[in-house]
Amino acid sequence: KIIFYDAKQYDIDSFEKQRKNYPDIESIYLEADLTEDTARLAEGCEGVCAFVSSTITGSVLRRLHEHGVKLLLMRCAGYNNVDIKAADKYGITVLRVPGYSPEAVAEHAMALALAVTRRIHKGYIKVRENNFSLNGLMGLDFHGKTAGIIGTGRIGAAMCRICHGFGMRVIAYDVYQNPDLDFVKYYPLSEVLRESDLISLHCPLTESSYHLINTETISLMKENVVFVNTSRGALVNTEDLIKGIRSRKFHGVGLDVYEEETENVFENRQEDILESSVTARLLSFPNVIVTSHQGFFTEEALAAISRTTLENACAFERG
Ligand code: NAD
Repeated sequence: KIIFYDAKQYDIDSFEKQRKNYPDIESIYLEADLTEDTARLAEGCEGVCAFVSSTITGSVLRRLHEHGVKLLLMRCAGYNNVDIKAADKYGITVLRVPGYSPEAVAEHAMALALAVTRRIHKGYIKVRENNFSLNGLMGLDFHGKTAGIIGTGRIGAAMCRICHGFGMRVIAYDVYQNPDLDFVKYYPLSEVLRESDLISLHCPLTESSYHLINTETISLMKENVVFVNTSRGALVNTEDLIKGIRSRKFHGVGLDVYEEETENVFENRQEDILESSVTARLLSFPNVIVTSHQGFFTEEALAAISRTTLENACAFERG
């Protein structure tokens, strides 16, 4: 018996479609994130399934343990929101979906890069207002430019292939080199930042990558660079990014993830933008596009997430 925590309820259909192939799994869907408070609803369930929107701390895991939960199924790739040491301590096995559709996220990264580089967001609004002037819409070509990919695992590798297909020179930084990417040259991080016209982040959030992009690393980047983050918000020091945007360092910035990914961070934008949260302030810049952590959100990726999550539950059951 598995309880699915999901405040947004966006992937229930996808799970229900797959579930006919797993008749032994009984499921309950809950319109809430997994918290210390909602953990008590897992009473009687062997497994709980949660998404990246839940912060699964030691106390949440202790509660789950008290209610007899043995398995935590994360239906996402990143697991920086789970206290893995505590899960170990309470004997809870954590399984995740490491590679559902890397192309889904990489294509979203390129969509953000293109949209912000070609000013698609501004052009769209102008045309809707019956304004066909090209003022403020000057773009840049990607063809013949250099793409710098930071992290060349599943998603980063897909992004390398997309950039290669655009006729870009592709360079990368990773702690391990991906042998499948023979068209990619690896350099130290500082070189990648110095040489790239498009920089896209695809490494996980760890202690060592926290605020990887900060005033110092931004200062190494080229003037007029395009910067995209579809990985994790805290890879970037938002305050420093805003300083960089203000100093006109960037041609454009596309963010699918940001430091405060709470439901109302943009709703609560103050009249005085300077009083707003640092994330909300990003919206005040015309060369910044922010999306709602939707890189994974394609039909194909959701089907793969559901399938692998249910497979993970079966694999756990089989021992
Ligand atoms: P992956 O594990 O396949 O690849 C990560 C790569 O980053 C590896 O090659 C690893 O060696 C490298 N790496 C680790 N630490 C690094 C560092 N400090 N500097 C440079 N490289 C480093 O992961 P993936 O499936 O490609 O996913 C990458 C990230 O994308 C995930 O950690 C997750 O945070 C994010 N993600 C976002 C979405 C979304 O919807 N926006 C969806 C899925 C995943």
